[in-house]
Amino acid sequence: MLSGAEDALAVVHEHILVCTACPLHVRRTQAVPGTGPATARIMAVGEGPGETEDRLGKPFVGAAGNVLTRLLGSIGLSRDDIYITNVVKCRPPGNRDPEPAEMESCSGFLDAQIEIIRPDVILILGRHALARLLPGAGGISGLHGRRVVRGERIYVPLYHPAAALYQASLMRTLEEDMLRVRQYLDEAETRRHDAQAATGSAAAPGRSQQEEPPARDQLDLF
Ligand code: SF4
Repeated sequence: MLSGAEDALAVVHEHILVCTACPLHVRRTQAVPGTGPATARIMAVGEGPGETEDRLGKPFVGAAGNVLTRLLGSIGLSRDDIYITNVVKCRPPGNRDPEPAEMESCSGFLDAQIEIIRPDVILILGRHALARLLPGAGGISGLHGRRVVRGERIYVPLYHPAAALYQASLMRTLEEDMLRVRQYLDEAETRRHDAQAATGSAAAPGRSQQEEPPARDQLDLF
């Protein structure tokens, strides 16, 4: 039986798979909603599916995905620990940048995914995800590896793993930034346990009992 969060996330995925709200649906092989547990404490948001992702229906499974997997491993995380998605869920033709109108059309899905999962830390992979999640905060070159706190959530902009494939010096920067991510996660975990101890609730992994996900009929996807 699915938990409330798993059920709500499955509904969002179902909507994405049949979505025709922007022109990107025309040339996709399939939409790529996202992968990972609904209880993930860490989430990664990239730009959009590439060719391999479009073919397999999963995000970050190509060469850039291998970089991401290795970076996660460097701080003791596996792909099973993280929910991974993109700003747009359908592949922009020729891997071009997603257009503002396409990102806007798709925004309700990403908002719903974040609302359901409520991660402690969101990794922002690349400048398009940065513009979408932290508009006006600054550029990726100035913000990478830094913690940006919005409400109860920590955002960490990072260079896109694909960029490190073409510019070797960025790989070292990504590796150093990931070590900071480990520190941010540990601090968030400590804060959550302290808050749960203060309210007397069980310190279970994932969301607290006070944080119920939105029900199916409460999801506001557009
Ligand atoms: Fe729908 Fe998003 Fe795909 Fe556009 S990119 S068709 S809004 S799922």
